[in-house]
Amino acid sequence: MAAAAPMVVKTAFSDKEHVVVVGAGAFGGWTALTLLRAGVRVTLLDAWGAGHSRASSGGETRVIRGIYGGTRRYTEMAARAMALWREAEKRWQRQVYHRTGALWMCEGDDGYVTRALEPMRAAGLPVEQLAPSEAARRWPQVGMSGVRTAYFEPEAGFLTARAACELVRERFVREGGEYRQTMARPGATSGGRMASVALPGGTTLAADRFVFACGPWLGQLFPDVVGRRIVATRQEVFFFATPPGDTRYDAGSLPVWVHIGERFAYGIPSFERRGLKVADDTAGPEVDPTTQERLPSEAALATARTILRQRFPALAGAPLVEARVCQYEASSDGHFLVDRHPGLDNVWLVGGGSGHGFKHGPAMAERLAAAIRDGAALPDAFALGERELGASMRTAGTRLAT
Ligand SMILES: Cc1cc2nc3c(=O)[nH]c(=O)nc-3n(C[C@H](O)[C@H](O)[C@H](O)COP(=O)(O)OP(=O)(O)OC[C@H]3O[C@@H](n4cnc5c(N)ncnc54)[C@H](O)[C@@H]3O)c2cc1C
Repeated sequence: MAAAAPMVVKTAFSDKEHVVVVGAGAFGGWTALTLLRAGVRVTLLDAWGAGHSRASSGGETRVIRGIYGGTRRYTEMAARAMALWREAEKRWQRQVYHRTGALWMCEGDDGYVTRALEPMRAAGLPVEQLAPSEAARRWPQVGMSGVRTAYFEPEAGFLTARAACELVRERFVREGGEYRQTMARPGATSGGRMASVALPGGTTLAADRFVFACGPWLGQLFPDVVGRRIVATRQEVFFFATPPGDTRYDAGSLPVWVHIGERFAYGIPSFERRGLKVADDTAGPEVDPTTQERLPSEAALATARTILRQRFPALAGAPLVEARVCQYEASSDGHFLVDRHPGLDNVWLVGGGSGHGFKHGPAMAERLAAAIRDGAALPDAFALGERELGASMRTAGTRLAT
């Protein structure tokens, strides 16, 4: 487990510097708070508020885990994020990171987990390999049929997503940041710089630098530069009822679980009595995040029930108690998109969470603040130029989400 060092951006911003951050989701909220702590004047804007129902960060819970195939960068970032979430919890005196561990169950190829073992070890994150019979003994409520290999990641768990977004926003305001609930659009530019953002009613807000962390809306705001490099795909999550008096599916008894078989599916134990969460990670059809109707579909429910039957046979006939329809802001390769605008020197674009961004909020913000402040390098994979247009990712082996 990485040591819980405090956030490192100390800085060298001038005290007159003003940064506008557009978007108060996992990426924008943490970016605003981190820049504020670096001594900058920050204004955070969001059209609908932190962790609202349409935002990709707006779910009840999001998985936090370090296993990421062989993609060492994300394992390292996840380890750092775990430390920063813990530090935040201490400051807030509120639990947002529920360390249930994650049970990984692989029906066939377990390369996604085995390729992560060395990066996990290097990041100080333990992983136990379990015989399926041992996993069944530890968690008899989980069905292990068809599972060939199983692994347990003790530092993994889940974050209370929308509540954490609001906590970050509240903290930002308490520490001296300015927050406004308003739509903002890229404003006037000259000499390769943006002068202001355009607000409703013909008003503007000027600043020295701008960060657009607009999740699935980023392509609409910057059609030429981002456009279809980020595509919003419809994702559905389902919550199934647990039997009366039965606490075996609750966060205290069951870990987060990941099923790698024909599908990549995952779920979260019942938290705050909302039911057992089941989700299929396959990218759904492309949607508009503002206008999509959020009624769950029969087809997605049927898939969730298939997974439920397989992994939680005693709940096979459990009624659905809740469902949520959200969207991934999927990049073509599943990597985040974090880069300076190619034509506007003082504008940063942040997005492409691609179904796995939430957990990384504080670690991403730390890296971005260092990049903005003193030009610290960001991973090449995050660069705009690396992106293909259009298709969202999802091919075996490059899968990064959950
Ligand atoms: C169903 C589902 C399950 C997921 N599971 C996981 C998981 O288990 N673990 C994990 O780590 N990640 C997970 N993710 C991914 C993660 O939730 C996202 O990558 C992350 O929340 C994206 O955060 P964001 O800040 O980029 O976007 P958002 O949360 O969408 O925030 C963008 C914000 O920008 C604002 N905005 C946009 N345009 C404007 C504008 N013009 N003016 C003002 N404000 C504007 C919006 O209102 C919004 O609040 C999941 C996502 C989904 C949908």
